[in-house]
Amino acid sequence: MKKILIIGASGQIGSELTPFLRNIYGVDNVIASDCVFPLSPSLSAEGISCKIDATNAQDIANVVQKYNIDTIFNLAAVLSAKAEANPMLGWNVGVGALLNCLEVAREFNTAIFTPSSIGAFGPDTPHVNTPQDTIQRPKTIYGVTKVTGELLSDYYFKKFGVDARSVRYPGIISNVTLPGGGTTDYAVDIYYAAIKEGKFTCPLKAGTFLDMMYMPDALDAIVQLMEADPSKLIHRNSFNIASMSFDPELIYAEIKKHIPNFTMSYEIDEVRQAIADSWPEAMDDSCARKEWNWNPKFNLASMTEDMIKVLKTKNL
Ligand code: NAD
Repeated sequence: MKKILIIGASGQIGSELTPFLRNIYGVDNVIASDCVFPLSPSLSAEGISCKIDATNAQDIANVVQKYNIDTIFNLAAVLSAKAEANPMLGWNVGVGALLNCLEVAREFNTAIFTPSSIGAFGPDTPHVNTPQDTIQRPKTIYGVTKVTGELLSDYYFKKFGVDARSVRYPGIISNVTLPGGGTTDYAVDIYYAAIKEGKFTCPLKAGTFLDMMYMPDALDAIVQLMEADPSKLIHRNSFNIASMSFDPELIYAEIKKHIPNFTMSYEIDEVRQAIADSWPEAMDDSCARKEWNWNPKFNLASMTEDMIKVLKTKNL
């Protein structure tokens, strides 16, 4: 990776991936873009930024050509709960924008990374130790776009040789940008609420186990996979990756170790609960470990310690 374009750079992942990659590959070699422009002062002041609406292929092609891009990170998204409220938008961004990126990647011979998700699985998928290759019949429009995205990315690799790679992210927990309307958002909101208010109303039921991951591991995964020797990759789109699995009671208990007066009650959001019930509890990520040495660093305890330490320094 020498010249990188990030699409959807203002989101939860993009806002941290951009400085992470600029630090590794050089500020001038990572172009940040989003359909909402201008980008935040920290992203735009630091390096080159521009407006790209990824549903418009020409927008992408112009920037790829102008900066001689060799790797595209396509993070443009409408997340699971939001897409259920607006399925056409979910499809146009989840699939339309991805197809545009793949076409540009084919034309200009770039590599491309587009995250998939635990949302690519459905109620018929084995929920525990979910295999890398298994049944994928999701019941959400978000999931439908993710399965389509995986298939399209593999198609472009096999048919045109486009170097398309991706991972199935679990819920990502972070402390820079709030999540954008997904089913696992509660696992971020709970930390902010614990520190700001000392109490939290949980939208998912006790016992709802889901795969989760701390942002530093999510960022490492991107670089490790994109820098991996292609001859070692048996799979491409998309790799299961996992680091921890917990339910609301477990994360609550972990936070309570640091904030003993913290309380939690439940008010179930039926849309999010139905989505969560259809997703895996814990994926088998042995293919990622074997094919490109995936090896996460954080568990629930170390993540919680770090989240609380960082959020306490912020003026929430
Ligand atoms: P987000 O919702 O926080 O950010 C998405 C960004 O895309 C926003 O800045 C938005 O303005 C931008 N965008 C939307 N439509 C666009 C368009 N037409 N053109 C250009 N930009 C557009 O999402 P995120 O959490 O950063 O997710 C990034 C990727 O990771 C997505 O593919 C998502 O499905 C995947 N993912 C995220 C999680 C998670 O927990 N955050 C989990 C699994 C997978």
